[in-house]
Amino acid sequence: MRGIVWFRRDLRLHDQPALTAASQECDEVIPLFVFDEPLLQSHEFGSACVNFMLGCLDELQASLAALGLTLQWRRGEPVEQIVQTATDWKADVVYWGRDYEPGAIERDRLAHQRLAKLGVAVRTFKDHVVFEASEVRGATGEPLQRYSAYRARWWTKWHATRPAVQPIPIDLAKKKATSLPVSSPLPTAEELGYSSIPLAIASGERNAQKRLRWFVEKPIHAYAQGRNLPAIDGSAKLSPHFRFGTLSLRMAIHAALNALRKSGRVSRPDVLTWVDELIWREFFQQVLVAFPHVAKGPFKAVTVPPSRAAGCERDQLFRTWCEGKTGYPIVDAGMRQLNQTGWMHNRVRMVVASFLIKDLRIDWQSGERYFMQHLIDADVAANNGNWQWCASTGTDAMQGYRIFNPALQGKKFDPDGAYIRRYVPELLGVPASKIHEPHLMSHDEQDRYGCHIGADYSAPVVDHQRARQEYLSLGKQESTR
Ligand SMILES: Cc1cc2nc3c(=O)[nH]c(=O)nc-3n(C[C@H](O)[C@H](O)[C@H](O)COP(=O)(O)OP(=O)(O)OC[C@H]3O[C@@H](n4cnc5c(N)ncnc54)[C@H](O)[C@@H]3O)c2cc1C
Repeated sequence: MRGIVWFRRDLRLHDQPALTAASQECDEVIPLFVFDEPLLQSHEFGSACVNFMLGCLDELQASLAALGLTLQWRRGEPVEQIVQTATDWKADVVYWGRDYEPGAIERDRLAHQRLAKLGVAVRTFKDHVVFEASEVRGATGEPLQRYSAYRARWWTKWHATRPAVQPIPIDLAKKKATSLPVSSPLPTAEELGYSSIPLAIASGERNAQKRLRWFVEKPIHAYAQGRNLPAIDGSAKLSPHFRFGTLSLRMAIHAALNALRKSGRVSRPDVLTWVDELIWREFFQQVLVAFPHVAKGPFKAVTVPPSRAAGCERDQLFRTWCEGKTGYPIVDAGMRQLNQTGWMHNRVRMVVASFLIKDLRIDWQSGERYFMQHLIDADVAANNGNWQWCASTGTDAMQGYRIFNPALQGKKFDPDGAYIRRYVPELLGVPASKIHEPHLMSHDEQDRYGCHIGADYSAPVVDHQRARQEYLSLGKQESTR
């Protein structure tokens, strides 16, 4: 029997259910990746994400080659490509890991239908999450709309099932398909219509495992506090690996819980806080499956202050946010980190999102889109869920009209300004006592520290206190209508 393994969001060999099943059931296994041309052309994702994916594919190709298998690739409309390759290569069965984005569900439904018509079997597997939406439900089988309830049931399910981790199939090397064309080199980012850029997070399965080992050895034991400090390497930086499946979630959770068992230090709250973040990830995946309308609009029809009207002023303010020139150092550092590296610290993601929505009163969907186009870990479910949380329209919406004060956030989480100085060099000479509100420096201080507000560094584009009042009173007006 000849099987195609269609690699998608599972670009690895370890604990890869589709690959494991194919190697057990088939005499010949053909690994395949399809570059989704319409998706690439839509530029829904940016160069950071595409370069990361190419790096992962490069390594996957080499790892498979070391076992004697060739990673084949195609480029085009994915359903057409998968049907065509299954026909050309006379495959009996196609294997893939399930994807939960609305567009992907439809694509897979069509592929399944077309393959079935040709008499090609399809076998699909859970991989991108530990538990699928249907596995973690409320008492009456309803999808859960609150993270706390979801988390409690997720843990019950985990303890009841303890999902196992599969090794690389041992006999994979014997499954090479004969009479296949030699695969050409993978396309470059430029050939796909993107720019080649250096990666801030090293791609590929080996790097993912190395980072996981390091993380569960050290930073995880101080995660509850460390994760909030953008100047230090206190979080896992594994999100693009989970996005592209270069790391198995099951493996990551077992590694964290094993570290807990082995550690003599009191790190239980830290380790469990980290696993809770992975449960947030799963929660947003199940929200997207159960309530697919979130991809196009608010989860709930709540009353929130109206966004600023379209026009030059709105566009100008949006541009200052995108470019990191708002005059609010923590916001500017975050946006420049995103633009330069494709990654942004989680605490700062929350601050910049709050600033866009509440201080600048720009619709959250514009921010969501910008993040998708720039993040190395761009993921529809996590991105949408978090933007809706910040906009107070989501499942666990931010309480009331909670508005982050950017200067206070900076003082609390980047007290000496090390993170700000890394991305906003105009403020290099400004001391910690002034760096969070540089516009309050006197003329003498601006001279002394070599930073003139309005010349070297932007003056604040809005006054935070005034913007806050305006947002709150617009909210009140809306709710009394
Ligand atoms: C406005 C906004 C947009 C976001 N967009 C994305 C996105 O497109 N893709 C993405 O993966 N994450 C997104 N996040 C969530 C979070 O910022 C990143 O997952 C996290 O910063 C990744 O860094 P890490 O791997 O070091 O995380 P860690 O703190 O080490 O957490 C471990 C893992 O848990 C998951 N996780 C952590 N926090 C969250 C969260 N709040 N929601 C969902 N999953 C989480 C990630 O998979 C992460 O790798 C967004 C957050 C905000 C506030």
